Amino acid sequence: MELRDLPSVDELARDAGDPLAVDAARAVLARAREEIKLGVDPGDLAARLRAELETVRAPSLRRVLNATGVIVHTNLGRAPLAPEALARVNDAARGYSNLELDLDDGVRGSRQDHLAALLRRMTGAEAALVVNNNAAAVLLALAALAEGREVVVSRGELLEIGDGFRIPDVLARSGARLVEVGTTNRTRAADYANAIRPETALLLRVHQSNFRVVGFAELPRLEELAAVARAHDLPLVDDLGSGVLGELAGEPSVRASLAAGADLVCFSGDKLLGGPQAGIVAGRADLVEKLRRHPLQRAVRVDKLTLAALEGTLLLHLDAPERIPVLRMLGEEAAVVRMRASRLAELTGGTVEETVARVGGGALPLAELPSFACALDESLAAPLRDGEPPVIAIVRDGKLLLDCRTLADCELDDVASAVSRCR
Ligand SMILES: *Cc1c(COP(=O)(O)O)cnc(C)c1O
Repeated sequence: MELRDLPSVDELARDAGDPLAVDAARAVLARAREEIKLGVDPGDLAARLRAELETVRAPSLRRVLNATGVIVHTNLGRAPLAPEALARVNDAARGYSNLELDLDDGVRGSRQDHLAALLRRMTGAEAALVVNNNAAAVLLALAALAEGREVVVSRGELLEIGDGFRIPDVLARSGARLVEVGTTNRTRAADYANAIRPETALLLRVHQSNFRVVGFAELPRLEELAAVARAHDLPLVDDLGSGVLGELAGEPSVRASLAAGADLVCFSGDKLLGGPQAGIVAGRADLVEKLRRHPLQRAVRVDKLTLAALEGTLLLHLDAPERIPVLRMLGEEAAVVRMRASRLAELTGGTVEETVARVGGGALPLAELPSFACALDESLAAPLRDGEPPVIAIVRDGKLLLDCRTLADCELDDVASAVSRCR
């Protein structure tokens, strides 16, 4: 084929009967021109246009199968939702909802009312507020309680969470001024007390969620910090990161933090809580009310889909926590994971290997969860990632490991078909 044999964009697009065909035809013809210049025949242009349109129309955000063994994987959307939470979303989003309507009196209500009682009961807090994510919760708390004033933080807690989210930057954006105390490895309660001046608005504790300082290290207990805050009539704000609702060794729980004297705690909805992306602030009613009235609250407010998913997840925490996928994966016996790996190995012709799964999501960074994987040939990594649904696994020592702690039983057949399509 010569350049002059190529159809025009309009000629090629005409028969497709698709409003996206002109742009797609332009792309197909541009590639065909390059190929002809290189002496390559571009083949059936109509077929290539159909393929191009299929690619353009394929949804970009898709389900993937997580075979990495990292449970709260930020790149893979963090917490998968329980069916009960999805049912709440479906119900609330399909039609209209009482998002801001008080059904008893027929007057305007607040979207925050739906979860307040549940969150109070589950955390022991006087009041609670839900926003878009935990970063927004921390930003809002600092803006509402400390704008133009000083916030005292330990040098050991000025952390970066990931993707450039840094506590000192959030503090600066809130309009508060950071006062650093202590050193990277040691901070004492007295360091906070010595830094308090009339300009001080609050004490901030940030949970060292995604790293650990070992060796010659010391941080005050939350009770000690709370005593300093109380003695100076200042609020203590605790950014917990994950925020465990029940109990989990090594991670602070929301209830324990409040009981130890934190006035406000901020935590994520989609880390160890196992729900949708959200930020939750729980604590003293007067402080929560200040956050609710701050103009930023409107900019970071939570939407109805998130509220519905969060309500569904919180109800499961009360009734059947093992039905929350993140909690199920965290607590599953290694023997059960091994059985899943054997089943997958049978289906794919792989072998079973011992692995170590991780919590992820910047929680329990050192925790090693005993796990098992189905091992296949390393060369399958790229085609599996490229498949439908994509399967994301890990490569170790020349092998592709499909970690079965983060795969559900009902996903094994999908993984096996994906593997057979790659061969
Ligand atoms: C993860 C984390 C955040 C941010 O929470 P998002 O819900 O991701 O916005 C803030 N602080 C700490 C300590 C965290 O671990």
